[in-house]
Amino acid sequence: MFVGHYSVAFAAKSEKNKIPLWVLFIAVQFVDYIWATLVLLGIEKLRVIKGFTAGSMLDSYFHPYSHSLVAAMVWSAVAGLVYKIIFSGHGCLYIKHAALIVGVAVFSHWILDLIAHPRDLAIYDNKWKVGFGLWNYRDPEFALEIALLLGGIMLYLARNVMPAIRRTAVIAFGIALVVVQVGDTYVPRTPLTDKATVMGVWIFYTLFVVAAFFLEKIGKRRQISSR
Ligand SMILES: [Zn+2]
Repeated sequence: MFVGHYSVAFAAKSEKNKIPLWVLFIAVQFVDYIWATLVLLGIEKLRVIKGFTAGSMLDSYFHPYSHSLVAAMVWSAVAGLVYKIIFSGHGCLYIKHAALIVGVAVFSHWILDLIAHPRDLAIYDNKWKVGFGLWNYRDPEFALEIALLLGGIMLYLARNVMPAIRRTAVIAFGIALVVVQVGDTYVPRTPLTDKATVMGVWIFYTLFVVAAFFLEKIGKRRQISSR
């Protein structure tokens, strides 16, 4: 699962919880940030094999600290707590609710990975591996990613008031994410090394975070001055 994860970020943001979209973009990929970092450090293991599954080249044969069910639960709690500490200037009830949403957004990563991954997600440590393996079916997996993303963006547009220019930018960003997914799923390429692959993960995910940050700035000054 790739851009489909961002559907949760878009869907989770509301006028009420006011969680910045860029924070939610980190949250939904938090587990993968841990994974990419641990692969870079040589602690978790990855093989990149052409045609490993129809929709992905990643053979994640050892990633218990980022992608086991228990680890995902721990990371979700950690992320919720970090959010609470950093954004604690907003009043107690509000921040509790928002921290919970951030935690759930982090955990959503594991649930969506469970659908796409072949049986490589451990329940605990490196044991009892699960995964429904939708990545074995390229077109349905792609369709699910896009359907999720579109649904998330539609919810975001419905639940958040914004100037027309930002609305247009959100749609353009959505299209860009679809193009990235088309490239990832359908454009043939030679497999990179494990380290280069996770460096790419870091770079791309962070570019999307930066894009999400600026997205919510678009038209902001005009919005304030028109009040
Ligand atoms: Zn993942």
